[in-house]
Amino acid sequence: MRTDIKRTTLNITTYCNLKCKHCLAFIPYHDKKFIMSIEEAGKILSAYFQVVDSVEHFTVTGGEPLLNKDCAQILEEVHKYENQITGSVDFVTNGTMEIPDDIISVLAKHIDKTKVVLSNYGEKLSKKIDIIEETLKQNGIPYRVSKFYGDDLYYDGWIDFSNHDLKWKTIEERDQNAQKCVHRVGKYFVINDGELHCCSRSYWRIRQGIIPKIKGEYVPLMDDTISIEEKRQDLIEMFNKKSSTSCAYCVGLCNGVPRVKPAQQL
Ligand code: SF4
Repeated sequence: MRTDIKRTTLNITTYCNLKCKHCLAFIPYHDKKFIMSIEEAGKILSAYFQVVDSVEHFTVTGGEPLLNKDCAQILEEVHKYENQITGSVDFVTNGTMEIPDDIISVLAKHIDKTKVVLSNYGEKLSKKIDIIEETLKQNGIPYRVSKFYGDDLYYDGWIDFSNHDLKWKTIEERDQNAQKCVHRVGKYFVINDGELHCCSRSYWRIRQGIIPKIKGEYVPLMDDTISIEEKRQDLIEMFNKKSSTSCAYCVGLCNGVPRVKPAQQL
């Protein structure tokens, strides 16, 4: 059976120059920070693209990915797998730092498969948005701005995922809520610590010991004792489930869940 998935996000650092209280990936709360080296990225990407036949959108982000000095090389490494990326390689940055020339060169070189996503947290935080936009325009690099400020919380707001109490007691309840979650329905995956997880909430709850690590709910990409075929089976199992253990502890990225003001700084 083929493994064709919609989206995967590679986290190349847990360092960030912002401290967003409601960060979806809980970045400010990571005790041990990491920066992925080009060597590590090469191994992870090689393992990932053996397990995954194709991905529509492959996202490189952090933390703030510009804080990783190997960022340009990592982006170049991702593009080596272009024939398995059917849509775009997305690069998400927070608008606080100008994009260095070496990264602009990589983005421009792969212009047909590149999309930059600028998170705009308003003029007090994302101070470099205008100059970044200007540079991207000058180089003809496709981009979009995700606006995370203003008064319309329905469209611009975030969800507070910090409460990890059990919320859905039966599998049926858990499935029902997860089937309204954008992450679950959209089959978005994340790569953290060399493992493929359902979402950053699931990864975080496992990491914090809130939920157990269960076979079939993550793929240990870097574990050489497990065959590629078995990893593919784990992914297919993840793919086919309506929900995972983490979803029982989660409000989900669903319509109707109250929104909070984005990018509140700790
Ligand atoms: S319900 Fe929560 S844990 Fe489950 S996929 Fe959605 S965001 Fe992740």
